[in-house]
Amino acid sequence: MLNHVCVWKDGKWKRITEEEADKMFPYRISSDSGLFMCELCGQFVSFTKGDTRKRYFKHSRGETNKECEDRSIGYYNPEPIQKKDLELPIRIIQYQDDYSFQIGLPEIPENILEKQQTNEVIIANEYEEKRIYSFERLAFRGTTYVDVGKRLASRYELKLGQDTEDIWEFWPKTTITNGREGRLFDVKTGKMLPFDTDVEVGKLYYYFTKEFLLPRVSPSLKRVSKLDNGNLYMVSATNLDEENAKFFLSIRARLTNTPLKTLNIWPPSANQDGVVRHTSHAVWMYLSGNARVTVDDRLVSPIGEEKDNWSLYRIPIRYNRQFVLIGRTGVLDYCRLQRDEKKYEVEDAKVEITDINKNPLEGYKQQKLPPEKKIFIKAEYDGIAIIQGKERYFKKKIYADRMESIEDIDFDTSITVTVGCDVVRQIYFEPKKQNRNNEVNWSDFLHRIREAKGRDVKVDSTEFATYCSSIADERVRAFIRNAASRGTLPSEAVSLLRKETMKFRRK
Ligand SMILES: [Zn+2]
Repeated sequence: MLNHVCVWKDGKWKRITEEEADKMFPYRISSDSGLFMCELCGQFVSFTKGDTRKRYFKHSRGETNKECEDRSIGYYNPEPIQKKDLELPIRIIQYQDDYSFQIGLPEIPENILEKQQTNEVIIANEYEEKRIYSFERLAFRGTTYVDVGKRLASRYELKLGQDTEDIWEFWPKTTITNGREGRLFDVKTGKMLPFDTDVEVGKLYYYFTKEFLLPRVSPSLKRVSKLDNGNLYMVSATNLDEENAKFFLSIRARLTNTPLKTLNIWPPSANQDGVVRHTSHAVWMYLSGNARVTVDDRLVSPIGEEKDNWSLYRIPIRYNRQFVLIGRTGVLDYCRLQRDEKKYEVEDAKVEITDINKNPLEGYKQQKLPPEKKIFIKAEYDGIAIIQGKERYFKKKIYADRMESIEDIDFDTSITVTVGCDVVRQIYFEPKKQNRNNEVNWSDFLHRIREAKGRDVKVDSTEFATYCSSIADERVRAFIRNAASRGTLPSEAVSLLRKETMKFRRK
């Protein structure tokens, strides 16, 4: 009796009941047919023959992943995802025709690092290779990636001279990389993707496997390199169809057009390499895609759900450090919520980005290009601007109170300004899309709420969070965040926001 069985229909995996399956398929269906998929574990299941008994879906015995939670008879009771399922991040690095791998060591709070008896970490693999890295190499903020050689080991173990429990809170002792199915990597970032990851049409992935695969057209698959202990392929889904969906399922990934995405909406904070710093009593998070949220080994339910799989979570803050794990069976995404003593400054405060006419570019998304494709950045402190475009990626140093110009700005370019390790400002020139008729003109809306009159009304943080969650425009959200730090809004602005968010509810 499985309750999460799907068939591929109309470009997605759709739930099917035993009664429906019985009408469509009068004979026994084996799991090898790849017709029925269990949504929880991503494995194919069989459908029984049913002579005297009622027909039902069944997991077969010889499965690779035996841990499906829906095996038990009765109803499905979701389990929290455990912190022990966390693995260290791994990435693949390309240098000319050469590839090598790196493992990421997440930051450890300074006070914990200071307490350690030892000063180095040993990374060992099953080939008896050992690499030793000194703690001095670790970045104070963010994840430090260290080289682990040209072959991807199937497991990495971390060892410390003197074991202290504290460090294992941040670094999993063991990281298992490839089962016989191989592993997918994101081509753009080089990051190894978790099992059961979402795959999107047109996006490029590396697939590392010991197997030798023949090139194919749909999905598109070709070998790019022979590595020391396997083959590296470039793979991409060509279409939202059954052929593509089944291929990716066979390598433990899920084809979808609503991929898992997490978005921190409240308080304003930057998610850097999985660490979200805040000063709040609760954190609001927006999640798209089919997954559940666990905080410190407890399951959290969404406080609101919308169409297209979007849900809103409020995560109460009980401790200075909390781990948020998001996943289906394993961890698909995670972050550490870190409450800092220092008050986090609202973004846009420190960095000014202007065009040649000295007009400020506000918010995150920019719908049009600046005149002469040129912008100027001025920051309060020294920092670095990272320019990422279709065909370029470079960093530029920003000096305090000095104007720096960036030229040849094109669509699909993002500019990130960092000071120290904080992302202080980010803008993105979004490629033009066809404007649908009933879409809100956000520039106009922003103008209206900015100019709004009336007495100041007190608005609580939950209401601000609701506004943030239903308005996609980053400029409006920045305005809301700013207002939230004051705690009030002019009455006219409140009614405009309420009207706008009500509209969303009704849709
Ligand atoms: Zn299952």
